[in-house]
Formats: sequence, structure tokens, C-alpha cells
Amino acid sequence: MPGITVDRDMCKGCELCNLYCPQGIIGMSKEINTKGYFFAQVHDPGRCIGCMLCAVTCPDQAILFHGTGVQYRLYDYFPAGQPGSK
Ligand code: SF4
Ligand code: SF4
Repeated sequence: MPGITVDRDMCKGCELCNLYCPQGIIGMSKEINTKGYFFAQVHDPGRCIGCMLCAVTCPDQAILFHGTGVQYRLYDYFPAGQPGSK
């Protein structure tokens, strides 16, 4: 299963990863890091598809990607009750 780890003290809280994650699973912390920023956190890691958009978007290389490949799960993009939905 793919996944990411955010280095909380390298993060400057710019929220680009939050903006670009197609799964919408990255949010910002409620506490601050050693630099004084609210840092990025993954709030639903089981839904990560491994696209790496967050990692390549991060200007500070604060995101480490784990795993291989992209898991496209089209049902994640259909509203409930539509073809392909859970
Ligand atoms: S790898 Fe893709 S799906 Fe996973 S957290 Fe990063 S942007 Fe989101
Ligand atoms: S893109 Fe990088 S620096 Fe910006 S909030 Fe995400 S992890 Fe932090």
C-alpha cells in the first residue's frame, strides 16, 4: 500500500500538498512545529493512491513517499450510488 510521511519540522505550512492531493486526504495540524508553522498531516492514509503529487509539489521536500506504483481506484471519484461507487 502506498503512503507518505511528512517531516513536520521541514514543513513550512504552504498547503500546496493539501491543494494538489486528488484524494483530499492531507490537512494541516492544529499544533505548530519548531519553525512556528502549522504542518501538513495525512488524515486518511488508507485512501492514498500513491500518485506522489504531494511529494513533487512540496517546495521544501518535506514529504517522503513509501511504496511503489499508483493505485487508481475509480470508485473513489463516483458519488455514492453511481456506477463504480462503493
Ligand atoms: S501520494 Fe497522492 S493520494 Fe497520496 S497523499 Fe500524496 S497526493 Fe494524496
Ligand atoms: S507542500 Fe510541503 S511545505 Fe507545503 S504544507 Fe505540504 S509538506 Fe508542508
